[in-house]
Amino acid sequence: MNTVQVSVVTPDGAVYSSDAELVVVKTTEGELGIKAKHIPLVSPLTVGRARFLKDGKEDQVSVSGGFIEVRPDQVTILAETAETPEQIDTERAEKAKNRAEKRLNDDSAHIDKARAEAALMRAVTRLSVAKAK
Ligand code: ATP
Repeated sequence: MNTVQVSVVTPDGAVYSSDAELVVVKTTEGELGIKAKHIPLVSPLTVGRARFLKDGKEDQVSVSGGFIEVRPDQVTILAETAETPEQIDTERAEKAKNRAEKRLNDDSAHIDKARAEAALMRAVTRLSVAKAK
């Protein structure tokens, strides 16, 4: 087989499952591409989109942190949150993006910039994945 079985799960349940010739995710070490027969590994994920390619087509899922577990015939993404393009509420993501941008532009001491930066990344990722519908 030149495909791997893919599943994306969150604490709320399964979000996506399919098989793919190539999986591309954003780990804390950078972008990782996985094909069948990849060596087993576990890696933490950052906020970003996961891409699943097969037969010249691509599925995308937005992921906000968690872990990827790779086995030669199977890839599991255990995500804090994950959404397919159909599940994304773009209005909500736009609002989250505006809120985060306002916080990042606010210089008052009580603003947690790292938290705002993370919220901005989640919103930007969701808006980008929503376009893959
Ligand atoms: P918000 O400020 O809008 O809540 P957030 O980035 O803080 O956004 P999270 O804490 O990452 O939200 O996610 C909480 C839950 O809401 C998760 O189940 C996630 O899948 C879902 N979720 C968040 N934003 C969206 C969205 N734009 N569309 C659909 N589901 C979303």
